[in-house]
Amino acid sequence: MTKIEELLANATPAEARIMNHFAARAEGFRPSAVRDVFEVAMRPGIISLAGGNPDLDLLPLGELGAMSARIIEDEGLEVLQYGSGAGLEELAQLVCDFMGSEGLSPQLDDIQMTAGSQMGLDLATKLFVNPGDVILAEGPTYTGALGVFEGYQADVRQVPLDADGLDPVAVEQAIAEIRAEGKKVKFLYTIPNFQNPTGITLSDQRRAELVRVCREADVLIVEDNPYGQLSFDGLRRRSLYSYDPENVLYLGSFSKVFSPGVRVGWMVAPLRVRKFLQIAGEAVTICPSVLSQRLVLGFMREGLWEPHTRRTAALYQQRCQAVLDACEKYMPEGTTWTVPAGGFFTWLTLPEGGKFADAADALAPAIEAGVVFIPGSAFYEQVEVDGALVNPGANQLRIAFSAVEPEVLTEGVKRLSQVLAA
Ligand code: PMP
Repeated sequence: MTKIEELLANATPAEARIMNHFAARAEGFRPSAVRDVFEVAMRPGIISLAGGNPDLDLLPLGELGAMSARIIEDEGLEVLQYGSGAGLEELAQLVCDFMGSEGLSPQLDDIQMTAGSQMGLDLATKLFVNPGDVILAEGPTYTGALGVFEGYQADVRQVPLDADGLDPVAVEQAIAEIRAEGKKVKFLYTIPNFQNPTGITLSDQRRAELVRVCREADVLIVEDNPYGQLSFDGLRRRSLYSYDPENVLYLGSFSKVFSPGVRVGWMVAPLRVRKFLQIAGEAVTICPSVLSQRLVLGFMREGLWEPHTRRTAALYQQRCQAVLDACEKYMPEGTTWTVPAGGFFTWLTLPEGGKFADAADALAPAIEAGVVFIPGSAFYEQVEVDGALVNPGANQLRIAFSAVEPEVLTEGVKRLSQVLAA
């Protein structure tokens, strides 16, 4: 039975009548497991280790309020009107300069503003992927990307991460194996810095190698870098785009450092490719929100970006440490976790023979105990093993530390440890 057939079995006659007209691609649409857990996370008394939200408490709300008022009063006729499909040129220029300060050299014409990286992922998949084409991704990877890829009926194959990120040799092998099946590999989707969900960072040595492997195999790379600014040591890791701008599409976002609610991000691609992304984007939103882009521009121009980034990264580092210390203190023996160098997340692997073989089974008792997390299987596609569908990552789970005070994190990890203890 297909997923839609299952849904039809429970639908009202009115729903079923309409659903019968769904396109084949609706089969790939699935609710986000992460979003489902968010609803629980909002309940009073629950400590949420689930949400990948930035902490907005450090934002200078007074200044932003005054700035918003000024923007509307002084530029209302412009910012409340439709804008350019490529985005606000002044902001795109600032993005160019900002990437330039990180050793990258995109041209202004290469910048496509978006309503966040999520939209960038959608545009890239829409432009490059035919149904059945393979997208290579990290195992585990960002659930929101899996949702996009499935929506375009891609065949997602995940290459396992180790402590140093993606192994270029494993990627090369995966490409060869998939081609031997007679399939097309359209792109490699990767989050090289402080990855969602693992917190893992691709090592310097592997960056050049990964880029070389993909270039030689003629497989594009889609580099998603929403967390790169939030490093705990203040260092900026070299982006894959800087190694090979001709084979890497870069996605940036203002969501994690400034605000996810403004919905502003960007993509970098050479002009003629970028124009296609623009056309695809115009079909969805006509133009990125002019008002939002103008607010981001103001935030950057007033010099608020740098200090805010530094302060939030320092805060996240303390929070990360609180989680790592609490894991050390309370987690059942044999549990392992990643040690992130930045970002929002750490990733736990439960011991073999522990109380829960599947972390998803620990979710209900954890909620009962007042804590919520995201089970590992949410970050993987199911795979077929000997004719049966299995969930990779069942023995794993994600902890987000970005938006919770250290003492609360400690208590949350303690509660979770008690649930997981045999
Ligand atoms: N990519 C990754 C890896 C993410 O973690 C997220 C947000 N959770 C996104 C993209 C989407 O971010 P945005 O708000 O910029 O659309």
